[in-house]
Amino acid sequence: MTAEIIDGKAFAAKLRERVGEQAHAFTKAAGRKAGLAVVLVGEDPASQVYVRSKHRATVAAGMESYEHRLSADTDATELLVLVERLNKDNAVDGILVQLPLPDGIDEQAVIAAISPDKDVDGFHVTNAGRLAVGQSGFVPCTPLGCMMLLTDRLGDLSGLEAVVIGRSNIVGKPMAQLLLDANATITIAHSRTKDLPAVVGRADIVVAAVGRAEMVKADWLKDGATVIDVGINRLPPAEGEEKGRLVGDVDYAGAKARAGAITPVPGGVGPMTIAVLLRNTLVAAYRNEGLEPPEDL
Ligand code: NDP
Repeated sequence: MTAEIIDGKAFAAKLRERVGEQAHAFTKAAGRKAGLAVVLVGEDPASQVYVRSKHRATVAAGMESYEHRLSADTDATELLVLVERLNKDNAVDGILVQLPLPDGIDEQAVIAAISPDKDVDGFHVTNAGRLAVGQSGFVPCTPLGCMMLLTDRLGDLSGLEAVVIGRSNIVGKPMAQLLLDANATITIAHSRTKDLPAVVGRADIVVAAVGRAEMVKADWLKDGATVIDVGINRLPPAEGEEKGRLVGDVDYAGAKARAGAITPVPGGVGPMTIAVLLRNTLVAAYRNEGLEPPEDL
């Protein structure tokens, strides 16, 4: 069997196009553009790259992007004052504080200060609670993107066996919750799980969100399984390479011969995250204006 490659890049491009069209409709209906505020504290190079691409994508989708760059020695109070100002700013629909924050700033306290209705990352406990009890709120972008790819490929997930490897608050737990809501039967695996290969072997759907290069082996997989690889890991550079290759948490080359469908790394889940962030921001904008968000978002 050769797996179908799930093209997250193409799917994300279509989602961004749809968001762009709906953002235009929103501007007409509300008399203003939807707005996303991104806060970056410090100089972390990876965070700077993420913030720049979020800014570009937001503008390309026809929304306002407000960037707030604070120095690494910013204290928590200053950051909380900014968040409070953004909470009250009617031009700002979504607030994203880029993580990780410098040592000494309590991330949970900062996330808790963001208004849940502007928390487009879906990290606030109110949104985690809404997801847990089935109320509409904001779902973290990466797992929501994975879910879109899964339902696009498989349609109804009812009764399917799903194994999520990883139990972080930003990926594993919300992923499991979404799969449960879609009536899949869920196992959440983690570092203490016994006999992971056997657990993975019964899954129709495997979502790997571990952060360990190519940990999930092809011979663990059930034939025909759908594999969503969230992991982004950089291998040490091979001879002659300046930078090592990016790989996922799944042995992609091997798994392609066994799975029914699989996301590549890069080009699978990664591009979905920003596309869903734009989608969440637009949904926030509609709700903040008391309008019903379009159904196809
Ligand atoms: P975390 O480090 O927060 O969580 C990793 C999880 O993997 C933990 O629950 C941990 O278990 C589990 N784990 C670690 N080792 C093993 C093992 N040997 N066997 C089974 N489970 C194990 O990571 P994140 O959830 O934040 O991210 C996971 C991966 O996804 C990373 O590679 C990250 O870069 C990537 N990522 C990609 C995104 C994208 O846009 N594509 C966005 C977000 C993340 P325990 O809880 O027991 O410690």
